[in-house]
Amino acid sequence: MKLSREVIHTEDKRKLQDISGEEILSCYQCGKCSAGCAMTSAMDLLPHQVIRLLQLGQVQEALDSKTIWVCASCLACSARCPRGMSLANVMESLRSTFLRPGDRCLNPAEIPYELLEIVPEQALVAAFRKYT
Ligand code: SF4
Ligand code: SF4
Repeated sequence: MKLSREVIHTEDKRKLQDISGEEILSCYQCGKCSAGCAMTSAMDLLPHQVIRLLQLGQVQEALDSKTIWVCASCLACSARCPRGMSLANVMESLRSTFLRPGDRCLNPAEIPYELLEIVPEQALVAAFRKYT
């Protein structure tokens, strides 16, 4: 792929930075975040590789990775980053971005009555928080 200003500085990337509050370009790819992450054996991309994709404007590729769901939000990467970037915030903003589109909303009217009778209230509250 040919890199250009248009490819790298996308609207999706700007939104992601707004949601996470992190400056993606401040990462200089030292890898300390990935070296300290306890979940890497289950990830398809290492945490610093997710950041690299975002730096290159490849937001969809980052959204498609298993890594964002494997991340346990333990904050070890954030504590280790010499640039003061919270990669955990970036992971959370990627998850939020993935869940935001309307087609992933949970419609209360579509939940079967039989299910409502047996599902714990807490599970419903959690589901509505995620899928709205
Ligand atoms: S520790 Fe920080 S600067 Fe180093 S690769 Fe990870 S996010 Fe980038
Ligand atoms: S917050 Fe996520 S990416 Fe960061 S060290 Fe923990 S599991 Fe790994």
